[in-house]
Amino acid sequence: MNIDCIKGVGPTIVKKFEKIGIKTINDLICYYPFRYDIIKRSNLEELENDDKIIIDGLVENNPSVFYFNRKMDKMSFRLNTGKNILNVVIFNRSFLKQSLKISTKVIVIGKYDKMHNTVTASEIRFGLIPSEPKIEPVYHSTNGLSSKQIFSVIEKALNLDFSVIDYIPKNLYEKYKLLNKKDCIKLIHNPKTLKQLSLAQNTLKYEELFLFMIKMNSLKLSKKNKIGIKRNIDKKLVEEFINSLDFELTHDQIKCVDDIYNDLTSINRMNRLLQGDVGSGKTIVSFIALYMNYLSGMQSALMAPTEILAIQHYNNMKNVFKNYDIKIAVLTGKTKSKEKKEILSKLKDGDIDILVGTHALISENVVYNNLSLVITDEQHRFGVNQRGNLKNKGITPDILYMSATPIPRTYALTIYGDMDISSIHTMPNGRKEVITYLKKNSEMLDVLNRMNEELKQGHQIYVIAPLIEESEKIDLENIKALEEKMNMAFGKLYKVGLLHGKMTNNEKDNVMNDFKDNKVNILVSTTVVEVGVDVKNATMIVIFDAFRFGLSQLHQLRGRVGRNDLQSYCILISSKETKRLEVLTKTNDGFKVSEEDFKLRGSGDLFGVRQSGDMSFSISNIKNDFNILLKAKEDSLEFIKNKEYMKPENSNVKSIIESSINLD
Ligand code: ADP
Ligand code: MG
Repeated sequence: MNIDCIKGVGPTIVKKFEKIGIKTINDLICYYPFRYDIIKRSNLEELENDDKIIIDGLVENNPSVFYFNRKMDKMSFRLNTGKNILNVVIFNRSFLKQSLKISTKVIVIGKYDKMHNTVTASEIRFGLIPSEPKIEPVYHSTNGLSSKQIFSVIEKALNLDFSVIDYIPKNLYEKYKLLNKKDCIKLIHNPKTLKQLSLAQNTLKYEELFLFMIKMNSLKLSKKNKIGIKRNIDKKLVEEFINSLDFELTHDQIKCVDDIYNDLTSINRMNRLLQGDVGSGKTIVSFIALYMNYLSGMQSALMAPTEILAIQHYNNMKNVFKNYDIKIAVLTGKTKSKEKKEILSKLKDGDIDILVGTHALISENVVYNNLSLVITDEQHRFGVNQRGNLKNKGITPDILYMSATPIPRTYALTIYGDMDISSIHTMPNGRKEVITYLKKNSEMLDVLNRMNEELKQGHQIYVIAPLIEESEKIDLENIKALEEKMNMAFGKLYKVGLLHGKMTNNEKDNVMNDFKDNKVNILVSTTVVEVGVDVKNATMIVIFDAFRFGLSQLHQLRGRVGRNDLQSYCILISSKETKRLEVLTKTNDGFKVSEEDFKLRGSGDLFGVRQSGDMSFSISNIKNDFNILLKAKEDSLEFIKNKEYMKPENSNVKSIIESSINLD
């Protein structure tokens, strides 16, 4: 059933929901809140600087409005809470001025600037805070569709007679005293108490992770996928190739090459994850794998997540293989149709040895002659099921995934339970480590001075804006305010550029190119900065509200600098969670960072950050919910071992198992 059958949902609203991937009632009710606001009066004494605040009171004076330009305004007024008088500022809400008469009762939600006794509000409501705390769901919103609107449509849907498939086997339901799924879905959107909420969350998380582990484990255990191609590869030729490179491989790179050689020359099908930090040298390892497969006389494909990266790999490969008679071609969504036709026909005839490209490579009309090795860069962007596309072509090639997100071994073994893992821990010689500082908001002057030092030397700087994820609109306001700040400090002498997700591709390209050409000195950006962007002259990255990011994410951001022989710096600005962030000041090792990340990030943080996009779970977070994942892992193994899936009541799980094995 589609959402247009809900009362009040017309074509315009349907379109907006489509933008966030929602078409059916089922999509809608499974669009879970990403966090909850507890509407409960804050105790000012307990709050720290920059904490979230919810407070109510009476408007004390007539609001004043300041207009920056046509698009931006700032309204200020004082709020009398009965105990204190607070300053309230709010951006772009000047239309509320008329309603905010003196003595109007309002609830103000926002961020508390303790020193200045000021609340920067993200929301103003009329009325007073109820005496019983109220739990409100917050959804990722989009242009023209606020979290509240989403909730009101979901609420209507929940009153319809909807049905859901319940996967959890009966014995496990009883074992963990889980809630019925339909009730869970109702509660997740509309919890009355925190206890109810956590019960519902745990049940839905358990189900999701149980199914995930069922897929993983059935892939791992299914014998039929394990038979691969046994190749004869002359090891001497491989060694000669390695010796001809401009540099010596690191110890870890050699180990990974050996792992791959053993896979390719044995009868077992390769299903390997090659993980290593950004810049650790995975690409050359994958090229050696391509060379080995070339020696065995078969075709390979190398898939990259973006067009830019695909072309970068292609050029790189041309160079590395310039003295060899290896036929290489590149295919992306932008390849002209005439050229594409030619490539496809050569590919079919076996006149191309290596095809590089985006996932156009495994689309339907691409026919290979004898494809036997598929390598994908940035594994986490491809779903496990994407292998299905290959299977449908009747080929089961060896597969190598590359990932720049280092994951500690214990976690990797669970999450990538169906794969073998090779890791590169050490960086190639000659890189300077990035020096990382942790600064409080009150040390801004020092930060600006350090920025000035770098700018004076002609170096460039990334400034990363905090990501609030409240709504697109507020995120945009935040980054614009930061641009303003930077212009105030440096605008006279230096050029400040702006980059964020709402810009068109063209606008993004322009500002990126200006930054590359050193026409922009300071780039204020959200985390959207393209992967693979390489600006060697950028020697500093300043990250605002660093506490909002996971350590691994900060580490990835830090990887944008330190790309030449100049000393580079990373400045993390945060007055909160300093203990956690200190890890980054002590190490540049991505594995250590992620190990700490896993250890430190506790669960139950209701105002937490959305998980970074390693895998797309709708409710679970593999880091915070690792304990549930471990239980699900054991239970799923037991379930498969005891052939529980043969029971008629578990037929839904059985079909999941079958489809994942067949897809592989
Ligand atoms: P990533 O693991 O992020 O894909 P790359 O493979 O792009 O990293 O490697 C980053 C840079 O390091 C490249 O310029 C590459 O040529 C270089 N490189 C790779 N291995 C070595 C090595 N053993 N010694 C010196 N430089 C290396
Ligand atoms: Mg790479």
